[in-house]
Amino acid sequence: GSGTVLLQVRVAPLGNRVLVLAEDRTEAARVEAIRRDFVVNVSHELKTPVGALALLAETVADAADDPVAVRRFTERMHREAQRLSELVQEIIELSRLQSQGAVQKDTPVSVRAVIDEAVDRARTAAQAKNIAITSGGALDSVVYGDHNLLVTAVRNLLDNAVAYSGPATRVGVGVTERRGLVEIAVVDQGVGIDESKQDRVFERFYRVDPARSRDTGGTGLGLSIVKHVAADHGGDVTMWSEPGRGSTFTLRIPSAGMKADALTTEPGAR
Ligand code: ADP
Repeated sequence: GSGTVLLQVRVAPLGNRVLVLAEDRTEAARVEAIRRDFVVNVSHELKTPVGALALLAETVADAADDPVAVRRFTERMHREAQRLSELVQEIIELSRLQSQGAVQKDTPVSVRAVIDEAVDRARTAAQAKNIAITSGGALDSVVYGDHNLLVTAVRNLLDNAVAYSGPATRVGVGVTERRGLVEIAVVDQGVGIDESKQDRVFERFYRVDPARSRDTGGTGLGLSIVKHVAADHGGDVTMWSEPGRGSTFTLRIPSAGMKADALTTEPGAR
């Protein structure tokens, strides 16, 4: 429990004395417990869609002479399969992030390029709900790190902003640079998050409303992935939210201290 310290003690005779070695294993035990939890959660989360698929397959077999039912059930099987594939992808992504540690800090990454690509990928879901995504601010900022991981992080924030907002609302990505930090804020006018739940949303597999989240295709891993990407870049992610008014998730990454125009290299210059 909290406040408990785990000591591994070894005793060895040393001449006419006794040598006592005490090692603090608290951190190692904590890491091991997190790993064990993760495996248990993963198995649990995988069982749900796999079970649904098995059940649907049986139902389809039973309904073989009813083409309308067959069609309906195969469509649902397709959706469950897609969900499963998304879940597996996110589990792989997260476990990779959990084991790899900090990213290389020598590659400058254009914040505009990251945001443009993330917005592009979130566009289909946004258009389906008539949600406009706009971006602005210090888009010419540059950070050091991994372009693809940063796209994944911003995209996860955008996907959530779209998923947890009503139709015809607006989603914005605003960039500011101050005190050596580049802040990328994803702002929505969605359902918001109850204050009592706000502390937990970055936990693996945590969903405020599992039933609703299942409809929107959520896995509960998106924000854990964002948190890891931020930490691996020496930054962090924080949130502000008011139920009924919307949420803002802010990704903060150390600035590379240059502007994007410094990145343009002549063809063949490298
Ligand atoms: P999910 O895949 O379920 O979206 P996340 O880890 O991305 O998982 O988010 C965890 C939970 O936090 C979500 O299930 C949702 O309840 C809540 N959440 C995340 N982003 C938002 C947002 N922009 N507005 C409202 N709720 C959000």
